[in-house]
Amino acid sequence: MMSKMNQFDEKLKQAVDIILKSKHAVVYTGAGISVESGIPPFRGDDGLWNKYDPKYIDLDYFFANPYKSWIVIKEIFYDFFGDAKPNAAHFGLAEMEKMGLVKAIITQNIDNLHTDAGSKEVYEFHGNSRELVCLKDNSRYNVSDIDLNELPPMCEKCGEVLKPDFIFFGEQIPEIAYRKSFDSARNCDVIIVVGSTGEVVPAAYVPQLAKQNGAYVIEINPKKSYFTDSITNLFLQGKASEVINKMSNQLKINT
Ligand code: NAD
Repeated sequence: MMSKMNQFDEKLKQAVDIILKSKHAVVYTGAGISVESGIPPFRGDDGLWNKYDPKYIDLDYFFANPYKSWIVIKEIFYDFFGDAKPNAAHFGLAEMEKMGLVKAIITQNIDNLHTDAGSKEVYEFHGNSRELVCLKDNSRYNVSDIDLNELPPMCEKCGEVLKPDFIFFGEQIPEIAYRKSFDSARNCDVIIVVGSTGEVVPAAYVPQLAKQNGAYVIEINPKKSYFTDSITNLFLQGKASEVINKMSNQLKINT
């Protein structure tokens, strides 16, 4: 009988062969890929929603209580997320794109770590925390140009309160990221799903649509997700950084 280690290596080899033969492999990432960069997920035992009330990023609450919301937003998304650096999983995926083996990354994350790692074709399904936007006159500001010691930050042009450019509860998915993500789902022949519970919709429809269109689903997660027993073809159980590091090294040897 094969040991657990050998079973994993066998599955990893299978995944590598499938990616090498693919014509259009894409990646779909959730909060799990950034856990090893020190950013906790929202859900689960150590999830942020056990510590903070999600109401602070509800659009109606935010506009009614901008100061209270911004205190919490600053703490979570700027004081805490702000210094996070990409980990081996983000770098491994960027390498796979350079090798021509990954065509795009569809991410639910708002932490900019795929771009920081060097990935080029990144569709940010839930937006990004690095920019602040004025919903009145559409002005945009890089957060590094804004003094977050004075809350809430205001639009210099019209005086309206600025909002981080990631989506709050009650907001639409950014149009271009939405279209590109679902186009990718229709066009890919392999989708690599990393660190997502699959509980957040409509984002979770992306890998589901890929599967319906005939894509092979490789999943990387230390725990089973909603996807594992429904759409996953090959489950690589483990931490994103370890699995993707091994995967990209093996791909490098074989290209
Ligand atoms: P989630 O918070 O619902 O679930 C996280 C998933 O990551 C779980 O399946 C968990 O088993 C897995 N995981 C934990 N450690 C891992 C590791 N080391 N390697 C790989 N996987 C690991 O995440 P979600 O499904 O992405 O949904 C939450 C939503 O919240 C997302 O849509 C995202 O917009 C947002 N969010 C973003 C960030 C970020 O930008 N980094 C962080 C928290 C939440």
